[in-house]
Amino acid sequence: MTMLHGSPETPRQAQRPSAPLCPECGQPFRPVHPQQLFCCVEHKTAHNNRMTVRGRQLTAFSLASRITRDGSCRDRATGKRARQDSRALMDKWIAEDRAAGRMPADDYMRLRYAKGFDRP
Ligand SMILES: [Zn+2]
Repeated sequence: MTMLHGSPETPRQAQRPSAPLCPECGQPFRPVHPQQLFCCVEHKTAHNNRMTVRGRQLTAFSLASRITRDGSCRDRATGKRARQDSRALMDKWIAEDRAAGRMPADDYMRLRYAKGFDRP
């Protein structure tokens, strides 16, 4: 390990976990409480508002896709179209999140699961 500045790293420093990253801005922060996911209320609100809007857009497509098993039963044409539309929406949002520097959805869900959120 190369040290550029200051004193050599101690084993205790090497084992200290890094600061968590805010899912909204991607910046490290110091949580005030153990369940805190975001660096500030504004970022939590922005994230939750965006997810609410996305959820409203995606739900009907996802349900139609699922009930038709991605267009393999029931109304196949509608199921296939709903599947395509839901995936197009999600691809668009993944690109938007990446361009905005937001945390990818799988990393965000890993954080939520680790903190005990989202258990059925
Ligand atoms: Zn933030």
